[in-house]
Amino acid sequence: MLRLKLPVRVPTSVASDTTYADEWRGTLLRFIPFGALAFFIGWALEIPSGQVTSFDMVVYPVMGSMLLLLELLLSVSRKALTFVVMAIIVGASTFFFLKLGWLLYLAPTGTDLQAQFTETLFWIPVVYLLSFILAEARLGQVVVRAFTVGMVVLAAAFMASTIFAGNIDWGVSYALVELNLANTVFLALTSTFIRYKESQTRTRARMEEVERQAYYDALTGLANRMRLDDELERRLAVARADGGRVALLYLDVDGFKVFNDTLGHEAGDELLRAVSRRLRQEVGPTDLMARMSGDEFVIVLGEVETAQAAMFAARKLQAALVTPFDLHGLSHHVSASIGICIYPDDASDGATLLRHADSAMYRVKRSGKNGVQRYRDDSDAVVERQRNLERELKTALTAHPEQLTLVFQGIHDLETTELKKVEALLRWHHPAWGHVPPSEFIPIAERSGLIVTLGEWVLREACRHAKEWEALSGRGIVVSVNVSAMQFAHPGFFRTVTDALEDHALQPELLEIELTEGIVMHGVDRVTETLKRLRHLGVSIAIDDFGTGYSSFAYLRDLPIDTVKIDRSFVKDLGAPLHAPQFALALVEAIAHVAMHLDLKIVAEGIETEAQRQVLRGLGCHLGQGFLFSRPVPRAELRALMHLNPTEERVPSKTFVN
Ligand code: C2E
Ligand code: MG
Ligand code: MG
Repeated sequence: MLRLKLPVRVPTSVASDTTYADEWRGTLLRFIPFGALAFFIGWALEIPSGQVTSFDMVVYPVMGSMLLLLELLLSVSRKALTFVVMAIIVGASTFFFLKLGWLLYLAPTGTDLQAQFTETLFWIPVVYLLSFILAEARLGQVVVRAFTVGMVVLAAAFMASTIFAGNIDWGVSYALVELNLANTVFLALTSTFIRYKESQTRTRARMEEVERQAYYDALTGLANRMRLDDELERRLAVARADGGRVALLYLDVDGFKVFNDTLGHEAGDELLRAVSRRLRQEVGPTDLMARMSGDEFVIVLGEVETAQAAMFAARKLQAALVTPFDLHGLSHHVSASIGICIYPDDASDGATLLRHADSAMYRVKRSGKNGVQRYRDDSDAVVERQRNLERELKTALTAHPEQLTLVFQGIHDLETTELKKVEALLRWHHPAWGHVPPSEFIPIAERSGLIVTLGEWVLREACRHAKEWEALSGRGIVVSVNVSAMQFAHPGFFRTVTDALEDHALQPELLEIELTEGIVMHGVDRVTETLKRLRHLGVSIAIDDFGTGYSSFAYLRDLPIDTVKIDRSFVKDLGAPLHAPQFALALVEAIAHVAMHLDLKIVAEGIETEAQRQVLRGLGCHLGQGFLFSRPVPRAELRALMHLNPTEERVPSKTFVN
């Protein structure tokens, strides 16, 4: 069967391009000798056939030899393919043109023109076909078209001249017309057919490319998340129908982030490719390996009878990584943490299967990495919630900031209850989980490092609102922002504060930063340095939740601070004198005493009753915050609390950017 290979480059694969050129080379190597043979036979039989012409006697051996030379060239060089094809097209076209010209104008009388035409010119279609075989030889198509036109012009000129001369040879004219018509139609049909096939191939290639991009990971060529989801669903459906098992391995390369950060992303990519190649060798033909993201891979095992089999497969993957990887002349040791989850034992759907396998992997990470664990119902649920929170928080920060809002709680004068400052408190409303309390997500943000970005967002939002209130009321109100120890220790923190202030044109005096005693963990000297710079700028500093952490009074003395906030647990005890009131009283008294000497302001947190307010006032506290005055409220409600009427805006409303 004739397999027509088309001259279209398939952009996705270099390999297919090569095979296609190789196939053509093979065909030409086989058939050029036939062309040469035709010339030599023609040459040898010229005299016996009785159709001898001087043109043939000279040109045939030349053409035959040239073809043999081209054959030789092609047999020694793969690269010569384009040249050989072009040489045949140009050489043969010239030959046919010259032969026709010679026959019509120079052949001696008595030459049987019609016999000569059929003997030679029916080879023309070969040249037409040749001109289409190589995408690189597009010029060949131009040559062929020019040649066809040339032949028509030559024939027409000849016929016209014989008509005018009154010696028209109807036989020759008939042959010329037929010859040119047949060739032109053949060329038109061939071009159209080839173009149609080309466009079909292009469409198919494009579709394949789109599919490849949609289903495969560009870096490693492995299946991507989408393909994994599809395939997992399919396999689960089969397993459901025939009561089979599906095991899923979640593999994360240990320490990849460090590798990436220190050696750069290119080296990181290279390592990932090398790792995926090694792993792929261990993966069976019925297994599916996909890259989830970054350094995370998922392997769906095709045939697993038992959990031990899945464990064995995971160990094999680990073993594949033991030999160090050579990158840029250095050898790198790589290990992996793998979590296993099995349908139907541990989960009943694809998404849960993935989540559970991920949790099991996370447990391996937390217990020292480089190991394999199977999902455990009891312990992994907590881990899973944390993982999910972390992931969703990241999404909220990057793609859905509308899930995050600030609420504000007033800090009041304990004497007059007048509003003195406001504390900004972060709220996260997740579309599926609803309100997630800061006590749950702030520690996760701290552990994952997300707090740096999250804290920056809070700071900027707080500055924006503070500016808005200032514009509304004509007088500034201090906004107090919570800053985690880790966020504070980040080298870019000071810059973040100054940028937030500058971008919103807020006076630094209207910003306060609340820190817990935990900040001193990063070294008192460094902390003091940053605090001094902030205060120098005009930003005030408060120590939050005092009494719950290290509670060293020395910090109050040594750190450059303005305010100390007494933790609400002590305030609570004050209101219930029967429960350890002495300690709470003594502590609040001591703080008040120290604060007075050090010229610090005191804010009591969590005041819920009038009794608490009175006791605190008596002890010398100036300011307080708590449900007695107001719960944390959204921005709009705070406006009312501040007695700000939006209609009394002092500046045009365009200042209130949302
Ligand atoms: P915090 O800074 O000590 O904030 C005061 C917390 O006490 C708030 O809890 C507030 O709602 C609550 N509270 C206020 N008055 C009363 C009261 O009278 N009774 C009771 N029982 N509670 C009261 P919230 O908003 O849940 O925040 C908890 C903690 O989360 C905050 O404690 C703070 O440490 C942290 N946090 C909140 N927002 C942020 C933020 O933007 N950044 C950082 N790093 N931490 C934040
Ligand atoms: Mg606070
Ligand atoms: Mg507090």
